[in-house]
Amino acid sequence: MGTPLFLSSSMLDKIKYFFINLFRPKPPMELSFSRISAYRFCPWKYKMIYEDGKKTPPTPQIALGLSVHKALEEFHKNDGRDLDDLLEAYNRVWVNEGFLNPQQTMQFYEKGEKMLEAYFEWSQLRKSEIVAVEKEFRFPVGNLILRGIIDRIDKLPDDTYEVIDYKTHAEMWDQAKIDSDLQITLYAIGCENIMKTPPAVLSYYFLAHDQVISTSRTQKDFDFAYKELADVAKKLKAKDYKPDTAKCPRCDFRTLCKFSTVKTAVANGKSLS
Ligand code: SF4
Repeated sequence: MGTPLFLSSSMLDKIKYFFINLFRPKPPMELSFSRISAYRFCPWKYKMIYEDGKKTPPTPQIALGLSVHKALEEFHKNDGRDLDDLLEAYNRVWVNEGFLNPQQTMQFYEKGEKMLEAYFEWSQLRKSEIVAVEKEFRFPVGNLILRGIIDRIDKLPDDTYEVIDYKTHAEMWDQAKIDSDLQITLYAIGCENIMKTPPAVLSYYFLAHDQVISTSRTQKDFDFAYKELADVAKKLKAKDYKPDTAKCPRCDFRTLCKFSTVKTAVANGKSLS
Protein backbone atom coordinates (compact mmCIF):
# COMPACT_ATOMS: atom_id res chain seq x y z
CA MET A 1 0.00 0.00 0.00
CA GLY A 2 1.39 3.44 -0.91
CA THR A 3 1.56 6.64 1.11
CA PRO A 4 -1.93 7.93 2.05
CA LEU A 5 -2.86 10.81 -0.22
CA PHE A 6 -3.37 13.27 2.64
CA LEU A 7 0.26 12.88 3.94
CA SER A 8 3.07 13.92 1.63
CA SER A 9 6.41 12.09 1.95
CA SER A 10 8.09 15.25 3.32
CA MET A 11 5.44 15.43 6.06
CA LEU A 12 6.04 11.77 6.87
CA ASP A 13 9.80 12.47 7.10
CA LYS A 14 9.12 15.30 9.56
CA ILE A 15 6.90 13.06 11.73
CA LYS A 16 9.52 10.29 11.67
CA TYR A 17 12.23 12.80 12.66
CA PHE A 18 10.04 14.10 15.53
CA PHE A 19 9.52 10.62 16.98
CA ILE A 20 13.17 9.59 16.56
CA ASN A 21 14.25 12.69 18.52
CA LEU A 22 11.54 12.18 21.12
CA PHE A 23 12.88 8.77 22.09
CA ARG A 24 16.59 9.39 21.47
CA PRO A 25 18.46 9.30 24.82
CA LYS A 26 19.64 12.78 25.83
CA PRO A 27 23.45 13.16 25.88
CA PRO A 28 24.85 13.44 29.42
CA MET A 29 25.27 16.91 30.87
CA GLU A 30 28.78 18.34 30.49
CA LEU A 31 30.31 20.42 33.29
CA SER A 32 33.58 22.30 33.50
CA PHE A 33 35.02 24.60 36.13
CA SER A 34 33.95 27.66 34.06
CA ARG A 35 30.35 26.44 33.99
CA ILE A 36 30.28 25.68 37.70
CA SER A 37 31.89 29.01 38.49
CA ALA A 38 29.35 30.92 36.34
CA TYR A 39 26.48 29.05 38.00
CA ARG A 40 27.83 29.64 41.51
CA PHE A 41 28.31 33.34 40.73
CA CYS A 42 24.72 33.77 39.55
CA PRO A 43 22.46 31.08 38.04
CA TRP A 44 21.01 33.65 35.61
CA LYS A 45 24.52 34.48 34.39
CA TYR A 46 24.99 30.78 33.63
CA LYS A 47 21.77 30.79 31.62
CA MET A 48 22.77 33.89 29.68
CA ILE A 49 26.14 32.42 28.70
CA TYR A 50 25.45 28.71 28.24
CA GLU A 51 21.75 28.59 27.32
CA ASP A 52 21.26 31.89 25.48
CA GLY A 53 24.76 32.16 23.96
CA LYS A 54 25.38 35.72 25.20
CA LYS A 55 28.97 36.92 25.22
CA THR A 56 30.71 39.55 27.31
CA PRO A 57 32.50 42.31 25.39
CA PRO A 58 36.29 41.79 25.10
CA THR A 59 38.40 43.56 27.73
CA PRO A 60 42.14 44.28 27.84
CA GLN A 61 42.55 41.76 30.68
CA ILE A 62 40.82 39.00 28.68
CA ALA A 63 42.89 39.84 25.56
CA LEU A 64 46.10 39.70 27.60
CA GLY A 65 45.15 36.37 29.21
CA LEU A 66 44.28 34.77 25.87
CA SER A 67 47.45 36.08 24.20
CA VAL A 68 49.80 34.85 26.95
CA HIS A 69 48.14 31.41 27.14
CA LYS A 70 48.22 31.01 23.36
CA ALA A 71 51.86 32.14 23.13
CA LEU A 72 52.91 29.57 25.75
CA GLU A 73 50.95 26.84 23.99
CA GLU A 74 52.52 27.65 20.59
CA PHE A 75 55.99 27.94 22.09
CA HIS A 76 55.90 24.55 23.80
CA LYS A 77 54.01 22.68 21.08
CA ASN A 78 56.54 23.91 18.47
CA ASP A 79 59.50 23.02 20.73
CA GLY A 80 60.56 26.67 20.99
CA ARG A 81 64.08 26.98 22.28
CA ASP A 82 64.81 30.54 23.34
CA LEU A 83 63.14 33.68 24.57
CA ASP A 84 63.03 35.12 21.04
CA ASP A 85 60.90 32.13 19.95
CA LEU A 86 58.50 32.76 22.82
CA LEU A 87 58.21 36.51 22.17
CA GLU A 88 57.80 35.88 18.47
CA ALA A 89 54.92 33.46 19.22
CA TYR A 90 53.39 36.11 21.50
CA ASN A 91 53.57 38.72 18.76
CA ARG A 92 51.98 36.31 16.28
CA VAL A 93 49.02 35.30 18.46
CA TRP A 94 48.39 38.70 20.09
CA VAL A 95 44.64 39.32 20.51
CA ASN A 96 44.15 42.95 19.57
CA GLU A 97 40.62 43.43 20.94
CA GLY A 98 38.97 45.40 23.71
CA PHE A 99 41.52 48.20 24.04
CA LEU A 100 40.55 51.86 24.31
CA ASN A 101 43.50 53.28 22.35
CA PRO A 102 46.98 52.36 21.01
CA GLN A 103 48.61 53.52 24.28
CA GLN A 104 46.55 51.07 26.31
CA THR A 105 47.29 48.31 23.78
CA MET A 106 51.01 48.96 24.16
CA GLN A 107 50.76 49.04 27.96
CA PHE A 108 49.09 45.60 28.05
CA TYR A 109 51.34 44.18 25.35
CA GLU A 110 54.41 45.13 27.39
CA LYS A 111 52.86 43.62 30.54
CA GLY A 112 52.54 40.32 28.68
CA GLU A 113 56.13 40.54 27.44
CA LYS A 114 57.40 40.96 31.01
CA MET A 115 55.33 37.96 32.15
CA LEU A 116 56.78 35.79 29.40
CA GLU A 117 60.35 36.90 30.07
CA ALA A 118 59.97 35.93 33.75
CA TYR A 119 58.23 32.67 32.76
CA PHE A 120 61.05 31.73 30.41
CA GLU A 121 63.66 32.17 33.13
CA TRP A 122 61.57 30.21 35.64
CA SER A 123 60.94 27.40 33.15
CA GLN A 124 64.65 27.14 32.25
CA LEU A 125 65.59 26.56 35.90
CA ARG A 126 63.10 23.75 36.45
CA LYS A 127 64.39 20.20 36.66
CA SER A 128 61.08 18.73 35.51
CA GLU A 129 59.99 17.50 32.10
CA ILE A 130 56.95 19.04 30.38
CA VAL A 131 54.67 16.18 29.41
CA ALA A 132 51.56 18.07 28.27
CA VAL A 133 50.44 21.62 27.40
CA GLU A 134 46.85 22.81 26.98
CA LYS A 135 45.79 19.24 27.64
CA GLU A 136 42.08 18.61 27.31
CA PHE A 137 40.27 16.08 29.52
CA ARG A 138 36.73 14.87 29.10
CA PHE A 139 35.37 11.81 30.88
CA PRO A 140 32.27 10.54 32.71
CA VAL A 141 31.86 11.27 36.41
CA GLY A 142 28.68 9.59 37.65
CA ASN A 143 25.97 10.47 35.16
CA LEU A 144 27.66 13.60 33.80
CA ILE A 145 30.77 14.47 31.81
CA LEU A 146 33.60 16.46 33.39
CA ARG A 147 35.74 18.48 31.00
CA GLY A 148 38.51 21.04 31.13
CA ILE A 149 41.90 22.09 29.79
CA ILE A 150 45.09 21.94 31.87
CA ASP A 151 47.72 24.56 30.96
CA ARG A 152 50.74 22.40 31.71
CA ILE A 153 51.62 19.03 33.28
CA ASP A 154 55.21 18.34 34.34
CA LYS A 155 56.86 15.10 35.32
CA LEU A 156 59.01 15.78 38.38
CA PRO A 157 62.41 14.18 39.05
CA ASP A 158 60.79 11.69 41.45
CA ASP A 159 58.41 10.55 38.64
CA THR A 160 55.35 12.20 40.17
CA TYR A 161 53.29 14.82 38.29
CA GLU A 162 52.63 18.53 38.78
CA VAL A 163 49.66 20.41 37.35
CA ILE A 164 50.41 24.05 36.53
CA ASP A 165 47.74 26.64 35.80
CA TYR A 166 48.72 30.14 34.61
CA LYS A 167 46.97 33.19 36.02
CA THR A 168 47.48 36.55 34.29
CA HIS A 169 45.29 38.73 36.51
CA ALA A 170 46.83 41.30 38.84
CA GLU A 171 45.18 39.88 41.94
CA MET A 172 47.37 37.57 44.00
CA TRP A 173 45.73 34.69 45.88
CA ASP A 174 46.86 33.51 49.28
CA GLN A 175 47.69 29.94 50.30
CA ALA A 176 44.36 29.44 52.13
CA LYS A 177 42.36 30.30 48.98
CA ILE A 178 44.48 27.97 46.86
CA ASP A 179 44.23 25.14 49.39
CA SER A 180 40.44 25.17 49.06
CA ASP A 181 40.15 26.18 45.38
CA LEU A 182 37.76 24.03 43.34
CA GLN A 183 39.35 24.68 39.93
CA ILE A 184 42.67 23.07 40.82
CA THR A 185 40.85 20.14 42.49
CA LEU A 186 38.99 19.50 39.21
CA TYR A 187 42.28 19.74 37.29
CA ALA A 188 43.81 17.23 39.71
CA ILE A 189 40.92 14.87 38.91
CA GLY A 190 41.46 15.56 35.19
CA CYS A 191 45.21 14.92 35.48
CA GLU A 192 44.61 11.65 37.30
CA ASN A 193 42.39 10.57 34.40
CA ILE A 194 45.08 11.50 31.83
CA MET A 195 48.17 10.19 33.65
CA LYS A 196 46.44 7.29 35.45
CA THR A 197 47.88 8.49 38.75
CA PRO A 198 46.94 11.50 40.89
CA PRO A 199 49.30 14.50 40.64
CA ALA A 200 51.53 15.10 43.69
CA VAL A 201 51.71 18.88 43.25
CA LEU A 202 49.18 21.43 42.03
CA SER A 203 50.46 24.92 41.24
CA TYR A 204 49.13 28.28 40.23
CA TYR A 205 51.69 30.45 38.47
CA PHE A 206 50.73 34.13 38.96
CA LEU A 207 52.55 35.51 35.95
CA ALA A 208 52.00 39.19 36.82
CA HIS A 209 53.91 38.58 40.08
CA ASP A 210 56.25 35.84 38.85
CA GLN A 211 55.14 33.79 41.82
CA VAL A 212 54.13 30.15 42.06
CA ILE A 213 51.95 28.87 44.89
CA SER A 214 51.51 25.12 45.22
CA THR A 215 49.09 22.88 47.01
CA SER A 216 47.95 19.24 47.00
CA ARG A 217 44.68 17.36 47.30
CA THR A 218 43.40 14.27 49.11
CA GLN A 219 40.51 11.91 48.41
CA LYS A 220 38.42 14.04 50.78
CA ASP A 221 38.91 17.05 48.49
CA PHE A 222 37.99 14.93 45.45
CA ASP A 223 34.81 13.76 47.21
CA PHE A 224 33.90 17.37 47.98
CA ALA A 225 34.37 18.28 44.29
CA TYR A 226 32.17 15.33 43.19
CA LYS A 227 29.44 16.55 45.56
CA GLU A 228 29.73 20.07 44.15
CA LEU A 229 29.44 18.73 40.59
CA ALA A 230 26.36 16.68 41.50
CA ASP A 231 24.75 19.64 43.26
CA VAL A 232 25.19 22.02 40.30
CA ALA A 233 24.04 19.31 37.87
CA LYS A 234 20.87 18.74 39.94
CA LYS A 235 20.02 22.46 39.93
CA LEU A 236 20.71 22.76 36.21
CA LYS A 237 18.49 19.78 35.51
CA ALA A 238 15.71 21.49 37.46
CA LYS A 239 16.38 24.68 35.40
CA ASP A 240 16.96 26.64 38.58
CA TYR A 241 18.23 29.95 37.19
CA LYS A 242 17.25 32.24 40.07
CA PRO A 243 19.19 35.52 39.66
CA ASP A 244 21.55 36.49 42.47
CA THR A 245 21.29 40.27 42.31
CA ALA A 246 23.79 40.76 45.14
CA LYS A 247 26.44 39.99 42.50
CA CYS A 248 25.22 42.58 39.93
CA PRO A 249 27.85 45.25 40.80
CA ARG A 250 30.61 42.75 39.87
CA CYS A 251 28.86 41.14 36.89
CA ASP A 252 30.03 41.57 33.27
CA PHE A 253 26.40 41.33 32.14
CA ARG A 254 24.99 44.10 34.30
CA THR A 255 24.23 46.36 31.32
CA LEU A 256 22.51 43.56 29.35
CA CYS A 257 20.69 41.60 32.02
CA LYS A 258 16.98 42.19 32.64
CA PHE A 259 17.40 41.48 36.37
CA SER A 260 20.42 43.71 36.86
CA THR A 261 20.17 46.16 39.73
CA VAL A 262 23.24 48.08 38.47
CA LYS A 263 22.91 49.28 34.90
CA THR A 264 26.11 51.36 34.68
CA ALA A 265 28.60 50.12 32.12
CA VAL A 266 32.22 49.61 32.99
CA ALA A 267 34.80 49.57 30.23
CA ASN A 268 38.40 48.76 30.93
CA GLY A 269 37.87 49.05 34.64
CA LYS A 270 36.42 52.59 34.42
CA SER A 271 32.77 53.40 35.02
CA LEU A 272 31.12 55.02 32.00
CA SER A 273 28.38 56.68 33.99
S1 SF4 B 1 23.46 41.28 36.25
FE1 SF4 B 1 22.96 40.44 38.25
S2 SF4 B 1 21.16 39.12 37.95
FE2 SF4 B 1 22.05 39.55 35.95
S3 SF4 B 1 23.40 37.84 35.53
FE3 SF4 B 1 24.65 39.41 36.48
S4 SF4 B 1 24.61 38.99 38.66
FE4 SF4 B 1 22.98 37.83 37.72
